[in-house]
Amino acid sequence: MILHRAIAIDGPAASGKSTLARILSKRLGLIMVNSGAMYRAVTWKVLRDGVDPTDRAAVVDALRGMELECGVDGLSSTVKVDGIDPGDELRSEEVNSNVSAVAAVPEVRECLVSLQRDFLKLGDVVMEGRDIGTVVFPETPYKIYMDADPSVREARREEVGEVDSVAARDHADSRRETAPLKIAEGAAILDTSGHTIETGVAAALDILRSQGFLMSTEDGSSPL
Ligand code: C5P
Repeated sequence: MILHRAIAIDGPAASGKSTLARILSKRLGLIMVNSGAMYRAVTWKVLRDGVDPTDRAAVVDALRGMELECGVDGLSSTVKVDGIDPGDELRSEEVNSNVSAVAAVPEVRECLVSLQRDFLKLGDVVMEGRDIGTVVFPETPYKIYMDADPSVREARREEVGEVDSVAARDHADSRRETAPLKIAEGAAILDTSGHTIETGVAAALDILRSQGFLMSTEDGSSPL
């Protein structure tokens, strides 16, 4: 039974999901869950332990041996592995290039999906990822699928100085067998290529009004 409401935001890398989720969290007082950080945390630990991220059985073994702890700091989700918050290392080049392999392992997904669903016990959430509207919360009526031109997305990553092969991750994330990235049933599509952050947020708020998350009179600009 769903006790609280969930906004599911899915889409490829650098489509604007985190930015939108952060702003919605702040404006609407929702817990923001970055599900990608959880896949990154498992990948970080796998690499740190010298496990081959493409060896499924070894990844499952490593997963069974790690203690994953998810929580909330303010309104943002946190993740620790064996008591350690990997911090900026979650976005290293090494993690970027190996996370899709680890995220394709069904046992990893099963474990993380269960932890992701637990956030709903704490309050209303806005969760971003690849399978939130299809697998984690398929029943939620509040779903947005974000996209942007590949060149725009690559440029966004370069702007923040991150080495990230967005195209390779998208390819792997869309073609894997378990929970591939796809548009969830009932999701509204928001292409942010031609949007500024401000106009993109306004478009998302319009979608949330049409899906009934916000009353038509609510402007979504009120602070907590
Ligand atoms: O969102 P972010 O780019 O940080 O996600 C990192 C990776 O984690 C993705 O490329 C994908 O392989 C995996 N992921 C996933 N399912 C999610 C969120 C992320 O498979 N719900």
